[in-house]
Amino acid sequence: MASSSVKVAVRVRPFNSREMNRGAKCVIQMQDKSTCECNTHSDVKLPQNFFTLYLQEEDPSFASQRKVYQDIGEEMLLHAFEGYNVCIFAYGQTGAGKSYTMMGKQDPGQQGIIPQMCEDLFRQTADNTDPDLSFSVEVSYMEIYCERVRDLLNPKSRGALRVREHPIMGPYVEDLSKMAVTNYSDIADLMDTGNKARTVAATNMNETSSRSHAVFTILFTQRRHDNMTSLDTEKVSKISLVDLAGSERADSSGAKGMRLKEGANINKSLTTLGKVISALADMHGTKKRRSDFIPYRDSVLTWLLRENLGGNSRTAMIAALSPADINYEEILSTLRYADRAK
Ligand code: ADP
Repeated sequence: MASSSVKVAVRVRPFNSREMNRGAKCVIQMQDKSTCECNTHSDVKLPQNFFTLYLQEEDPSFASQRKVYQDIGEEMLLHAFEGYNVCIFAYGQTGAGKSYTMMGKQDPGQQGIIPQMCEDLFRQTADNTDPDLSFSVEVSYMEIYCERVRDLLNPKSRGALRVREHPIMGPYVEDLSKMAVTNYSDIADLMDTGNKARTVAATNMNETSSRSHAVFTILFTQRRHDNMTSLDTEKVSKISLVDLAGSERADSSGAKGMRLKEGANINKSLTTLGKVISALADMHGTKKRRSDFIPYRDSVLTWLLRENLGGNSRTAMIAALSPADINYEEILSTLRYADRAK
């Protein structure tokens, strides 16, 4: 990876019917493949070095689910095969396309990064012809809501799970289901179970607005047998695929009471995630910092992702955007967040 520890991509979805009915105008423009511009205010001329902009209007094939996977998912999977921990997360306002990008839909060509990566992983392991190399794959799927962790693969476990720290493996969730899977259809069933269990609460913004972070984790182990010594060596990589809660400010959706508390918690973990990533980017660049300054502990999300951010890991962030002027403030704040991460 080049100078930055985080690969940043911006994805702009097409107008939705609500935006079209309100006669919304597109405020995002692409200058070239790596520069985007938000055209209503001069202070948001966007950074020259954004990695990629996917602007669906200009070239539908450019922004396809396949293309997004090829540009981001394939590289991250390659890093997992190399033994790195990997994290991909989607950030943005509710309705901007985070779930579509990460999970997508079942229809052909509509699958997001998670199902495509799982399919690709099994395809590649099936192609292996080395008799001394074997693989195992385990999956977990959790939701973090108001700093509490819930197991999406065991929705009956109503209570929040405890977050603990292992002296070697680092932070983990006690009793979180970890399912061994041997093929794509096993994983597809688990994704389906988990997606149904996700907490969705209506807000004034969007009836299915998601107020929780969903973290899909693949624990990928490559085991090599040495015939001379009869010993096995293992390379384990943790792949975390994260659909973050909507980044809109609580007050912009008319939130009160519990909703306001949710908003504060969501903002806290998103702010901490931003701080962690920009601290890591600084460490990577010229401004050397010590890793103990990185505020992983300030939110459950960043604490649990500690092994996936920084250190022996590769991270990609996809900033999901609406193209419409009516969402201008949120577009701006998402782009600023993405800019800090690179
Ligand atoms: P979020 O997860 O950010 O709240 P969603 O992923 O649920 O947003 O997207 C909101 C709606 O827009 C969904 O109906 C989704 O299918 C649609 N959508 C999002 N991104 C795209 C895209 N790139 N192309 C086509 N439809 C999209």
